[in-house]
Amino acid sequence: MSAQILDGKILAAQLKERLIEEIKRLRNSTHEIPRVFSIVVGNDPASLSYAASQQKTAQSVGIHYELQNFKADSAQEDVLNLIDELNSYDHVHGIIVNKPLPAHMSFKTIINAISPYKDIEGMNLMNFGMLLMGEDGIFPCTPAAALELLKSSGVNLKGKHAVVIGRSEIVGKPVALLLLREDMTVTICHSKTIDLPFVVHDADVVIAALGKPGFVKGEWIKTGAIVIDVGINQVDGKLVGDVDFASAQGKAAYITPVPGGVGPVTAVMLMNNALKAFRLQTSS
Ligand code: NAP
Repeated sequence: MSAQILDGKILAAQLKERLIEEIKRLRNSTHEIPRVFSIVVGNDPASLSYAASQQKTAQSVGIHYELQNFKADSAQEDVLNLIDELNSYDHVHGIIVNKPLPAHMSFKTIINAISPYKDIEGMNLMNFGMLLMGEDGIFPCTPAAALELLKSSGVNLKGKHAVVIGRSEIVGKPVALLLLREDMTVTICHSKTIDLPFVVHDADVVIAALGKPGFVKGEWIKTGAIVIDVGINQVDGKLVGDVDFASAQGKAAYITPVPGGVGPVTAVMLMNNALKAFRLQTSS
């Protein structure tokens, strides 16, 4: 068996087209567009380059994007004051806080200061609670991207067994909750899980989000499973996932590549969330 590739670039392009159309329609009916404000603290190159790519994606779909770059030694209070202001502005619909933050700042405190309606990364406690309770909210982009890719296989997910490897707040836990909402039977694994290969072998869907290059082997995968590789790892200057792609491709029915899988879809999901935030705030 050679797995069919779930191509994130193709899916991202399709989702972008849909978003462009929706924002055009919105602009025609409301004379407004979603507006996003992004915060970077310091000069971390990964953070700055992520912000630059957010800007590019936002502009390509017709979303207004503004960036404030605080100096690394700024006080947390300065960032919180800006967030307070942004929360009160009708013309700002989405707020992003880029990681990493300097050691003297608390990401949790800062993200929870954002109005839940403007929290387009879906990271604050209110949105996490909505996800947990099965309510509508704004949900984290990478888990949402993993689900979109999974759905793009066209396979009926109801009742099937999903094994999520990783329990972080940013990927593992929220993706597990999203899969539960799809009526999947979900197992969450982590570094203390006993006999991970055995657990993975029962999975119809494997979501790998542990941050270890090529860790999940093809022989662990049940024939015909769907494998979504969320991992992004640098090895010898190349990006690789958490799944050993070469061996897993021979067992899975569908698999996402790295790069070109979850990553490109994540970028569009952030803008999708900006549109959702706009709608929540303007009832349009
Ligand atoms: P993280 O916070 O480091 O969490 C890793 C999780 O994996 C933890 O729950 C950990 O278990 C578990 N784990 C580690 N080693 C394990 C092992 N040997 N067996 C089973 N579980 C193990 O990482 P993260 O932020 O969730 O990110 C995970 C991966 O996704 C990384 O490669 C990251 O770069 C990537 N990522 C990609 C995107 C994207 O857009 N594609 C976005 C975000 C992250 P414990 O809880 O027990 O420590």
